[in-house]
Amino acid sequence: MPALKLHDTLSRTDREVKPLDGKTLRFYCCGPTVYGPAHIGNFRTFVAQDVMRRVVEASGTATLHVRNITDVDDKTIRDSQKAGQSLTDFTRGWTEKFHADCASLNLLPPQVEPSAVAHIPHQIAMIEKLVAKGHAYAAADGSVYFRVSSFKDYGRLSHLEDRELRLGASEAASATDSDEYSKDSLTDFALWKARKPEDGTNYWPSPWGEGRPGWHLECSAMILEYLGEDFDLHSGGVDLIFPHHENEIAQSCCSTHGQFAHHWMHVAHLMVDGGKMSKSLGNLYTLADLQQRGYTPAEVRYVLISGHYRAPLNFTFHSLDSARQALQKLAKADKALAAISPTLQHSNAPGPFQDAWDTLLNDLNVPGALGGIFGVLNKLKPAAISAEEAAAARNGLHFMLGALGIVLPPVQEEAAADVPAEIQALAQQRWDAKQAKDWAAADALRKQLEAAGWLIKDSKEGFTVVPKA
Ligand code: AMP
Ligand code: ZN
Repeated sequence: MPALKLHDTLSRTDREVKPLDGKTLRFYCCGPTVYGPAHIGNFRTFVAQDVMRRVVEASGTATLHVRNITDVDDKTIRDSQKAGQSLTDFTRGWTEKFHADCASLNLLPPQVEPSAVAHIPHQIAMIEKLVAKGHAYAAADGSVYFRVSSFKDYGRLSHLEDRELRLGASEAASATDSDEYSKDSLTDFALWKARKPEDGTNYWPSPWGEGRPGWHLECSAMILEYLGEDFDLHSGGVDLIFPHHENEIAQSCCSTHGQFAHHWMHVAHLMVDGGKMSKSLGNLYTLADLQQRGYTPAEVRYVLISGHYRAPLNFTFHSLDSARQALQKLAKADKALAAISPTLQHSNAPGPFQDAWDTLLNDLNVPGALGGIFGVLNKLKPAAISAEEAAAARNGLHFMLGALGIVLPPVQEEAAADVPAEIQALAQQRWDAKQAKDWAAADALRKQLEAAGWLIKDSKEGFTVVPKA
């Protein structure tokens, strides 16, 4: 089967995603900073990476997916103190919440999920190598810095040469600690941060005194541990290209003999109402916020994949409503095919959805592939096709849905169109509880719906909500 072609930020070309060892695609994604709930912008990036992984696996290649947990940095330390919790307890809670959201959004769990705090010795060992090779130096206060001028390739990923170098220097200075005046050069960044009073009890011993690692270092150290000096692909949101990924390359290439990542995938940002998402504008949404408004995680996932990953995506509530309709359309098409071909066979080929699949393999063009799927479904006339054709279409459809990580919702009958979103959400929760055989929860939700004036009618495939007579 042909391989996925993906844009590579470093070479600025679309290149085939092929494992170096010919067997397993080994890739790394920068993970969440666990000091609060991840927002749907973060999830745009994690979902895009999940689709990439699913497409690679669907085309017959195994994967080794490593994604870290950033559980020590300025924000985790500051907010754990505000919460009156130890850093460990505080970050554990937010890591669990992150995992729950990932499961709701149908994200495949990475095979390895290392935490920064659990890899302090690995990070210290990398700094020692960098100091020994003359790429890093200790400052008078016990902090250690990477000497950017010692790495001639610095800036290749973000194409610094195309921008004004001065701009790069000032951005780098503000992105690291601008108050660290003991650095030799403004662009040098911290590998080890000497202990400060505001760190509280969060510090570790090192050859340079007590302190903690700089943020960029954890990824380099954990990649070396779990993927080695050379690995297939590295990914994150576009905001990480500079300085984070540039710094990761510098640390890794200067402390090992490898090339580091052979392919770079960056996901464009999710915007809200055409602008940046931010807490101060009140337009920063978490999955829980959207669920409270009656939307399902499947609908959120559909919105997040519905734009090409390299173009900024504008989130609106209208897009969630459209996702609901699109999912219903898919579910109804599947139901119609199932009526002719009830037994679903696992398929490793797209069948009649070959064009949509080819579109997906071309730089992960999900919107194009979805358009292709609907194009085929619109032409299918279940009343006029044979059981064999229906089986091929249904198996192919499920191959495509699996590659996109789409789980079909129960089919809603037309009468359900006027059901308020919150009622629909409650009914969905009850259905989920019933499927999970949590009868007590299912009963309680049914009573709650009845009290609100709604009845549920179940069928084998799903449920309908109707007003109480
Ligand atoms: P963080 O938890 O801030 O370290 O971010 C986790 C991931 O989310 C990183 O890959 C970021 O690049 C990505 N990210 C942050 N904001 C957005 C956004 N608005 N849209 C898409 N990805 C984002
Ligand atoms: Zn990273």
